[in-house]
Amino acid sequence: MADDLRKGRIVIVGASLAGLRAAETLREEGFTGSLTVVGDELRPPYDRPPLSKQVLLGQAAADATELPMRRDPDARWRLGVPATGLDPLGKRVMLADGDALPFDRLLIATGTRARPWPNAEEAALDGVFTLRTCDDAGLLAERLAAGPQRVLVIGGGFTGSEIASACREQGLEVTVTERGPAPLVGALGGTLSKLAAGMQRAHGVDLRCGVTVTALCGDGNGRFSGADLSDGSHVTADVCVVALGAVRNVEWLKDAGLAAGPRGIACDGGCRAFDMYGIVTDDVFVAGDVSRFPHPLFEYQLLSLEHWGNAVAQAEVAAHNMVNPGPLRRPHLALPTFWSSQFGLNIKAVGVPTFSDQIVLAQGSLEARRLAVVYGYRGRVTAAVTVNMAKSLEYYQHLIETAAPFPPAPGAADRTLAAELPLPSDVPDPKGLSHGPLVALTGHLPDRRLTMVRPG
Ligand SMILES: Cc1cc2nc3c(=O)[nH]c(=O)nc-3n(C[C@H](O)[C@H](O)[C@H](O)COP(=O)(O)OP(=O)(O)OC[C@H]3O[C@@H](n4cnc5c(N)ncnc54)[C@H](O)[C@@H]3O)c2cc1C
Repeated sequence: MADDLRKGRIVIVGASLAGLRAAETLREEGFTGSLTVVGDELRPPYDRPPLSKQVLLGQAAADATELPMRRDPDARWRLGVPATGLDPLGKRVMLADGDALPFDRLLIATGTRARPWPNAEEAALDGVFTLRTCDDAGLLAERLAAGPQRVLVIGGGFTGSEIASACREQGLEVTVTERGPAPLVGALGGTLSKLAAGMQRAHGVDLRCGVTVTALCGDGNGRFSGADLSDGSHVTADVCVVALGAVRNVEWLKDAGLAAGPRGIACDGGCRAFDMYGIVTDDVFVAGDVSRFPHPLFEYQLLSLEHWGNAVAQAEVAAHNMVNPGPLRRPHLALPTFWSSQFGLNIKAVGVPTFSDQIVLAQGSLEARRLAVVYGYRGRVTAAVTVNMAKSLEYYQHLIETAAPFPPAPGAADRTLAAELPLPSDVPDPKGLSHGPLVALTGHLPDRRLTMVRPG
């Protein structure tokens, strides 16, 4: 059985971080069959985190971010060709060039793309950018290097904040608009978002919170010239970066009958995709940003993450499970971790900060810009975020993994500082971000009960 699984045909759709790491792991695990990796980008797999950091700062060329290969995955690469459909019964992936790739097992690792500005005409103005790909980063870096008068960044999440930081580091004037009360509030909650807001302003960012951009304006010659805001004001700028988050690349699966929607493709703890009825498949696996997976530490809620470390860990588990029989399969239990660098802050997180109702400042202080904040949910530790204090993170990781009581013992990490009283974590209610139900049930008799996809 195990030997059979090490042969046959495996197709991976998505030739980026998760796709590459899965391909390498398949070979490390002894897979000797045929391996095909399909990617709609022409470039070989490259790394995205440097795109909003070193590349925008001019410290690295956009096309010098290729991902190092841990070993030759001995794969057939089909680059520059999008997958357009999946036939789960016939076990074939359809490609845009008319080809169909038969498979025995499939890994879906199609990640996300930048959410575009909703008005296509405004988005097409010269000077309006998004940032997800190597080409996006190259074009934006070139425009920043030319010294624009002002850059408008729409969205104060991690990507928007890092772009603003890179602009200020190069002495460029920058305005950030954020719909919420402060930057990073959706990811880190109220307390740290205040620090983020303070740091942006201290570094000269014109930060506008509680407002949305209502229109991007052109100069009459197709060039971006500024934007109207919901508070009635106007920002004059010559570059605009739309940083409104990511959209999961699932449209190509619309007729595949999988549990795929705006939050990604749901899978079990072993990375096997669920079909639209919630029944687990055994030959379709998912990994990386496009997946939603249950984690026991977070009440088995399906997590949709956009973290580099998760893409790698999940790809490795998926690949292992694709070539091993049931009892030898592994769960994807890695704790989520992520990092960001902006405005001189080194932010690192472990756990799921949004899975919280309270926080405590466990070490350091906002004033010192060196701190550790611990997040708790119903009396146990669920996440920690450090700012310029990454060494403590391992300790908090242990607390999360052991479901340690919240708040943690005062000064537990370095025995110097007492934990302050817990505060509400002030993470926006995720229901507010909900996309609504995607399926409806039909029929009354038990064998007629079916789910059908609701029209969008
Ligand atoms: C600017 C930027 C900065 C970041 N910084 C950090 C950071 O500091 N820390 C951190 O933890 N994470 C960071 N991330 C997130 C991290 O890069 C992602 O978590 C990671 O890239 C996920 O890898 P993935 O392979 O799952 O998906 P992706 O990297 O999105 O790759 C998916 C690939 O599949 C392709 N594809 C999509 N649809 C199809 C199709 N139908 N057919 C064929 N191919 C298809 C896509 O074009 C893409 O090449 C950053 C991301 C960006 C964009």
